[in-house]
Amino acid sequence: MFSVKGYGAIITGGASGIGLAFAEALAEGGARVAILDLDSNSLNLQVNRLSAKGFDVRGRELDVTNRKEIDQAFAHIAAEFGKVDVVFANAGIDPGIGFSNPDGTRSQEGAIENYEDERWDRNIDVNLNGVFATIRAAARHMKGSGGGSIVVTTSVAAYLNEGMVGAAYMAAKAGAAHLARNAALELAHFNIRVNAIAPGFIVTNIGGGWLKQPQIQKSIGDMIPIGRIGSADDLKGLALFLASQASSYITGAQIPIDGGGSL
Ligand code: NAD
Repeated sequence: MFSVKGYGAIITGGASGIGLAFAEALAEGGARVAILDLDSNSLNLQVNRLSAKGFDVRGRELDVTNRKEIDQAFAHIAAEFGKVDVVFANAGIDPGIGFSNPDGTRSQEGAIENYEDERWDRNIDVNLNGVFATIRAAARHMKGSGGGSIVVTTSVAAYLNEGMVGAAYMAAKAGAAHLARNAALELAHFNIRVNAIAPGFIVTNIGGGWLKQPQIQKSIGDMIPIGRIGSADDLKGLALFLASQASSYITGAQIPIDGGGSL
């Protein structure tokens, strides 16, 4: 029921953190995996590492904000795999600044009246426009191939206010979440399911790896009902569930995976 054996999977932002965990989960389950990522060093490293374990994994360097590159990558990978069954629109960035500092004081730089154009634009470009480009490319392919599953990595910041992550991230994630719901409604008729995973605090390289600091992990862990910060591996089960037929009657859902942090 949870099998992804023989599936063709595309994962954006799969060279690090949560996307890498998705890639591992799918590859371990017997899927053929294509990782699309901006960071060529991490991409090569991870593709070589997973290939050396005998998994069917390949990589392609691209920026999800480049729609032409996304379309070309999908065409190329679809031709190689024959069929793309699962697409994870996961690539994302954290602007690293909001209206409040980690110590609770107000941030001047992250205040709305001081928010820089470039920071706003890049965030919306990657975290919202990149998801649009990925969903569109997936829909074009899946409509002609009998269906599939699209999974968008949003965030609990799509529906919670988090002063530290700031205006652009929250707006982009809320936009991506609603875009996923719209796509779910529009594409259900074509046997294409679209769901979102909304992580809480997960230790990855995002935001310069600030969540890797032990004292930050402890203070966040103390606020989380389950009692600890999350790891990328915590997301593997949900990724397999949403990719596989185990979730065949679920579409348009956004599932929090945050140790109860948003309760
Ligand atoms: P990460 O930095 O470890 O990994 C992100 C990956 O995306 C990197 O490999 C990076 O090179 C790639 N990427 C960034 N911009 C790209 C672009 N324009 N084109 C292609 N690839 C690009 O971070 P992560 O925490 O694994 O983040 C993955 C997703 O999870 C993001 O969408 C993020 O917003 C979301 N998320 C993370 C957390 C968390 O606490 N880590 C919480 C909620 C949501």
